[in-house]
Amino acid sequence: MSEKSFIDYIKIYCRSGNGGAGAVHFHREKFIAKGGPDGGDGGKGGDIILQGDHQRWTFLHLKYQKHHRADQGRPGGSNRLTGADGKSIVINVPIGTVVKDEKGQVLFEITQDGQKEVLFKGGQGGQGNWHFRSATHQAPRHAQPGVEGVEGWITLELKVLADVGLIGFPNAGKSTLLSMLTAAKPKIAGYAFTTLTPHLGIVPYRNKYSFVMADIPGLIEGSAQGKGLGHRFLRHIERNTVLLFMISADDAAPKRVYEILLHELREYNPDILHKQQLLVISKADLLDDASKKRFEKELLIGQPYIFISSFTKQGLEKLKDELWKMIHTSIFL
Ligand code: GDP
Ligand code: MG
Repeated sequence: MSEKSFIDYIKIYCRSGNGGAGAVHFHREKFIAKGGPDGGDGGKGGDIILQGDHQRWTFLHLKYQKHHRADQGRPGGSNRLTGADGKSIVINVPIGTVVKDEKGQVLFEITQDGQKEVLFKGGQGGQGNWHFRSATHQAPRHAQPGVEGVEGWITLELKVLADVGLIGFPNAGKSTLLSMLTAAKPKIAGYAFTTLTPHLGIVPYRNKYSFVMADIPGLIEGSAQGKGLGHRFLRHIERNTVLLFMISADDAAPKRVYEILLHELREYNPDILHKQQLLVISKADLLDDASKKRFEKELLIGQPYIFISSFTKQGLEKLKDELWKMIHTSIFL
């Protein structure tokens, strides 16, 4: 599987259906020379609807189907018969989809499973000629055309909804921690197994609870300016409730690493740093007491941190407790 099988950004063309035309028709019956107007209304054009689907995690299904046209309304008939409405199209998208128009304006977001939003409404059907008869105008020969549908290219962007976003340099131990804490991976069709895509995991907590953790691909210096992995991945952090920073215990300059991580996030969006933050030192199994002291001296930041090891499980329970508390706090803030 390649990285391309995870698609978190796509442009698609949509068009809602035209309304059907109103009919021009006159009632006809044997022995009645001139019946009244009885042309029916046109049907409504089909809508383009987006719907949240919790079983989807990517826009892969839209990659080879970029054009979506809803059906037109049918024209009105004789005997005041209204034409059939055009069928609407429902496009399923993952939860966390942000929908933007051609100018980049946000139209709406899909935040719930089953949430339906009408993107483009189908055109109204035209009125048939029987609407236009009056005392002075008993045989109207005109009817309304249907209203045209709406068309345009829209952008779909995915924001991963994880409670905790893991932030650290490549090799910090993020993927290993995620696989240690994670019971079941959400079913992700065609999800790529590479560190270049954000991986989601459900972390079970105290038998009946759980939270979602995302392994954000490694930041590298300059990524906020579009170098390296860049914005596409940083975007995933925006919705995380808690930022979990990870520095490896075998890092010679942990303080510097921490500052680079903060700097990258600040450059991308200073608001992100208003989120709750927790710092872990991974691979603590590599440290004996003496090197642990040296490490702490080197780190020296006015912020609490937890030593953890995915290998020995040291600190993992404490980490889960802390994360749960923080997620819980922000929910009830
Ligand atoms: P990522 O790039 O941040 O996802 O890092 P990985 O999870 O792929 O880990 C990078 C390397 O560190 C791998 O060789 C892991 O086996 C190793 N590693 C991960 N966790 C630990 C740990 O708790 N202790 C030790 N000693 N090594 C670890
Ligand atoms: Mg990794």
